[in-house]
Amino acid sequence: MRPSGDTGRSVLWFRRDLRLHDHPALFAAVARGSVAPLFVFDPRLLSGRFASPNRLWFMTESLRTLDGELRARGSQLHFRVGNPAVVVPAFAREASASTIFASRDYTPFARRRDVAVRVGLARDGVTFSLSPGHLARAPQHVLNAQGLPYRVFTPFSKAWAGVQTRTVLRAPASVSHLAGMDAGDIPAVFDIRPTAAEMPEPGETAARNRLARWASGGLDRYADLRDRPDIDGTSGLSTDLRWGLLSPVEVLERCAGTTESHRRFRLELAWREFFAHLLWHFPNVASEALRERYRRVAWAEDAGGLAAWKAGMTGYPIVDAGMRQLLATGWMHNRARMITASFLVKDLLIDWREGERFFMEHLFDGDVASNNGGWQWAASTGADSQPYFRVFNPVLQGKKFDPEGVYVRRWVPELRGVATGRVHEPWLAGGAPGYPPPIVDHAMARERTLAAFKQAERAAAGRTG
Ligand SMILES: Cc1cc2nc3c(=O)[nH]c(=O)nc-3n(C[C@H](O)[C@H](O)[C@H](O)COP(=O)(O)OP(=O)(O)OC[C@H]3O[C@@H](n4cnc5c(N)ncnc54)[C@H](O)[C@@H]3O)c2cc1C
Repeated sequence: MRPSGDTGRSVLWFRRDLRLHDHPALFAAVARGSVAPLFVFDPRLLSGRFASPNRLWFMTESLRTLDGELRARGSQLHFRVGNPAVVVPAFAREASASTIFASRDYTPFARRRDVAVRVGLARDGVTFSLSPGHLARAPQHVLNAQGLPYRVFTPFSKAWAGVQTRTVLRAPASVSHLAGMDAGDIPAVFDIRPTAAEMPEPGETAARNRLARWASGGLDRYADLRDRPDIDGTSGLSTDLRWGLLSPVEVLERCAGTTESHRRFRLELAWREFFAHLLWHFPNVASEALRERYRRVAWAEDAGGLAAWKAGMTGYPIVDAGMRQLLATGWMHNRARMITASFLVKDLLIDWREGERFFMEHLFDGDVASNNGGWQWAASTGADSQPYFRVFNPVLQGKKFDPEGVYVRRWVPELRGVATGRVHEPWLAGGAPGYPPPIVDHAMARERTLAAFKQAERAAAGRTG
């Protein structure tokens, strides 16, 4: 059926914005009249390069709570399965909708998908309306004086902070329902168990409680504690932001304040947007180094090293603690992410894309842009990343950021009997039962990496010079 002009009926297509509060697309749909809320299970999520049982579980459970919230407002979520390019136009016909509302998503995959959906809808004369929601400021609004994207974080963050954000919107009190449509079910293949033993509580209400606790508590000490993996000193909001259980505009508003902790926290949210903007402007970073000169580093083939890293058995306590935290909880402290990523790339000389994929397999907050940005930062291949000759020493990092060894003992129980003075270098205390000796010599590994990066630079200069 072709909608003839404005039917006043619309579809709200949820993707990674599984909330009712501060949701501009939902707000616009509700303002127009009756709405059919939709979620499409795309089978590509099950088998893609970055598929993850942890994230699928979290998403599915958050969808159940979203459905409950919609029912409490007189509506419900409709579930469909298949390629959105086919399924969304079909659903629009079912609903006799003249407009599909959604929040804009910025990844290369989402952009291709949305172009295909737009083409399908246009054939039926249906409008596809994309609203902000995933970021506080859109990539098109944060450009330098030449109208080009920033590649350096500090000027980006200043320009970003200077762009006006929209006002926070309330959740609709009721959603006018389109009666008579089949609700559909969550398909059994998507009803997956997480691999993590400890999971964050899914759903918007849990996320809002976490935000409230953070804004009125932990945030005050953020500047002092944010770099300490042994202390619960960060917000733990990354998964909520990843799935849009919270809107970044609302998080910024709730965390407005003038202390160093408030400022620092907003800067971290700016990193999230910096990486999202970079991926929007340079979609090729999803598969290759942003800096051309490091596209041909001669990475090592080291299956044993990669397996030891993945299992948290490298013999370097702070690296192994981080990896085991990831396996057990699907989350890792930022400092540990930086250390473990640096170790894979700079101590084992393994291609950063191996690490990127493994993180995406496990992280509840796994986000193509932030994860890619973090990996390219650690590998020295990205925008404003750490220079390649700055190589983290895993022992010194451990001593500095986990001074009492609390973090390493929590995640690597083999080390519980090792004295604090030696806990980051247990080989000096004769080792620990069941715990391996270091799989590489850090000083030698560092030299090998410097040589490999220099070689890549020479090769790049030779090609262009
Ligand atoms: C190799 C590597 C991979 C990473 N992969 C991801 C990922 O897949 N998804 C993800 O959300 N973050 C990723 N990060 C960034 C960061 O580690 C996490 O966002 C942070 O640890 C989440 O914990 P939190 O919410 O308590 O952070 P907080 O310290 O409380 O920070 C607040 C919020 O700011 C954002 N943020 C903080 N630091 C960064 C950063 N360096 N880059 C981008 N956003 C940031 C997050 O949304 C976070 O929730 C990665 C970092 C590295 C080094």
